[in-house]
Amino acid sequence: MRARSREAVYPSSVGRHRVIDLRPYLDRSGNARAEHVREVQWLGCLVELVTACRTGGRWERAAAPCDDPKCAGRMGIRRIGDACEWFCAACSGSGAVLGWRGTRWDLTELEREDELDRSDALVFTRLEELAAVRRQTLVPELRLSLALAAAHADYVIVSFAERELAELLDALDECVGDRLVDRFAARLDAALLACEARKVEPPTVH
Ligand SMILES: [Zn+2]
Repeated sequence: MRARSREAVYPSSVGRHRVIDLRPYLDRSGNARAEHVREVQWLGCLVELVTACRTGGRWERAAAPCDDPKCAGRMGIRRIGDACEWFCAACSGSGAVLGWRGTRWDLTELEREDELDRSDALVFTRLEELAAVRRQTLVPELRLSLALAAAHADYVIVSFAERELAELLDALDECVGDRLVDRFAARLDAALLACEARKVEPPTVH
């Protein structure tokens, strides 16, 4: 008998609702299997948001775009037990990701030990830019700062410590050719300049 493919087992689909166990999508070293890179990237971002922001059972506005690239809808997320659930009101896409504990996207421990004061700079940006930056390879500490971004109706605010601005700029320097990443880097640049100007009030950069 032919073995059932992973796709036949995971995810289970109920209409537009998908329940996905992250584990079968990963190889032994915890990286996404080649055929699941895009999906794991998106699901991992949700896990980072939920664990960094200690999202609970109430629906919160997620600083993450819908998984359908054609949908400009804004998503809600919540956590019920280990199920990180998402819902997009624009396209009615919804689902839950499981099996993420101990993966590289689980920021629970990092957030618990985090004591960094991120009041040096508030960077206003667009969700698409933030999402493009979060698709880059970054150290967990910077991933935590980005995952803590506050989502508003049509913009997000990311708070940084001054040294993080420089670190993130350095990391993004490697990622050439992405217009959205470049635009975000320009915002970081401006915020860093403002920090260096030693204003009394935390700078706000648009
Ligand atoms: Zn959508």
